[in-house]
Amino acid sequence: MECLKASLCAAFSLAVSTVSVFAGPITTVPWNGHPGAATFTFDDGLHSQTNNLTFLDNMDAKVTFFVCTGTMDFSTNSQPHLNYAKKGHEIGNHTVNHKNLTQGADLNSEIGGAASKLRSMGLEATSLATPYCAQNATVKNAINQEHFINRGCGGGGLTGWDNEPDWMQIDSHYWQASSSVASFKGSLDQAAGGKWHVQLNHGVAGNWDVISAADIKTLIEYAVSKNLWVATFSTVGAYLRAHFTIDKATATNTANGFTVKWTSPHAHMPKSVPLRVKIQGAQGKTVSQKGKEVKPNSDGTYTIEFMALELEVSGEPIEVKPFKGAIEIPGTLEAENYDTYAYSDADGKSDETGYRSDDAGIVTGGSGYALGYTSADDYFEYTLDVKSAGKYKVVINGATGNSTASSVTVSVGDKKVQTEIPSKGDWNTYSEVEAGELELAAGKQALRLTINTNYINIDWIKFVDESVQSSSSVPQSSSSATLPVSSSSAPAQSSSSATNAIVQKIAFEHGSAMVRCQVFDLNGQLVKSANVMAGSASEAWNLVKSGLRNGAYIMRYGEANHNAMRIVQLRK
Ligand SMILES: [Zn+2]
Repeated sequence: MECLKASLCAAFSLAVSTVSVFAGPITTVPWNGHPGAATFTFDDGLHSQTNNLTFLDNMDAKVTFFVCTGTMDFSTNSQPHLNYAKKGHEIGNHTVNHKNLTQGADLNSEIGGAASKLRSMGLEATSLATPYCAQNATVKNAINQEHFINRGCGGGGLTGWDNEPDWMQIDSHYWQASSSVASFKGSLDQAAGGKWHVQLNHGVAGNWDVISAADIKTLIEYAVSKNLWVATFSTVGAYLRAHFTIDKATATNTANGFTVKWTSPHAHMPKSVPLRVKIQGAQGKTVSQKGKEVKPNSDGTYTIEFMALELEVSGEPIEVKPFKGAIEIPGTLEAENYDTYAYSDADGKSDETGYRSDDAGIVTGGSGYALGYTSADDYFEYTLDVKSAGKYKVVINGATGNSTASSVTVSVGDKKVQTEIPSKGDWNTYSEVEAGELELAAGKQALRLTINTNYINIDWIKFVDESVQSSSSVPQSSSSATLPVSSSSAPAQSSSSATNAIVQKIAFEHGSAMVRCQVFDLNGQLVKSANVMAGSASEAWNLVKSGLRNGAYIMRYGEANHNAMRIVQLRK
């Protein structure tokens, strides 16, 4: 790792000041920003299709025709299909003669011959559908020489986003004369849950495996009404294939930004593959491809050209540094003050408050701002400045509207605590949760907050020095001389003998006021009682401690007319 600023590098052992190569700044937005995708394919190059799909002229939806160049309607009159191609629909390869390719057909002439014929018509077919959906390893290998994707059939026709499919056998849902609109609507409903539905049709109101013009119109309109991305087989297929390449691409720092380069996953990808992406670290900078600026969309995503195979982000150098200086411990870390660029936020939601200028989610809530719109595996890092080594109690203020409790982890080096944020039914009701104890070394170090469950808001993380225990808001008891010492306020096992250090740690600041102090020994016996003018607990302690023997004491302290008091354990 490379350091531009030596002083920063020396100061932070874990928070990296400058990153030279970093992984995965580009994340593809699934299905072009839709909840899922739907592709309607029509096989065999039939005029019943071109005659009865004219309603598509009034829609944005684009479909795919797999044509045979040597048999059926397309071979004698290709013009009706070519007219559809001019309007943005896809013509794909369905071979020359519609032979079963697994039964000894000449693969080169059947596949390559059709591809050449289409090319001579000005059509670069990037996809193929095997006749009878018949393929084996040899057939797939032959298709792969000429096309980046092949359609098969036989299953439910749904392909997911996260796992790379067999590009030479993308499944489709085969419409037959006995099929029902209801069952295909069911497939489209499933697609709306994050999948790609591919439908295989043949004749429309004629020929074979007939679907009526009304039924295919109903299904395409249903897909649109579900906000599915209705696009051609190659368009969705290339988008999906590009995602598996670009999301793994690494970035290299430049003098004033970074570049990302990748290679095409296949020699026969479409010439243009527009890709909607999030680019981490691009906020406030200029994104360009081949020297041409790419402006962000209104939601902060960018629509880039995957086939440019590179992208450049320029502006201020990427520098990880504390947002408002290192966070002093003991103290409170405001979650929204993560170090610059030191986060991973997977969703598309960005700062809705304007507090930070990057693309992490920040909301108003709790004590001002809080992290919001989080998802599982998001993380945020902070530079701590631990004033003295020791054990610290970690208290987290968070909220979740999830129906069950949701988990977060706080880690410093190899030490970590994990806890659950209880659900209060909405994202505005925050709870303080004691997460456990972390033993911290003195000095500067990085803390990572990891979100383990979707949708948790985090307001702050407080570090309380365990060598000085205190409990707040203890109800004032009667003026009884003995203090009821409960198990939770057992005497402190102070690890420090430095009187001043301990006193400083209990500096409960407030305006100067008359406060009532009662000092007890560890047997609960009242040893001193006084009202003093003080601005903090430590000031009050300094005023009442004279005359006491050296040792450990408990002081009940608070404004004389207040119900709430604090109990502080001290050492003289
Ligand atoms: Zn066919």
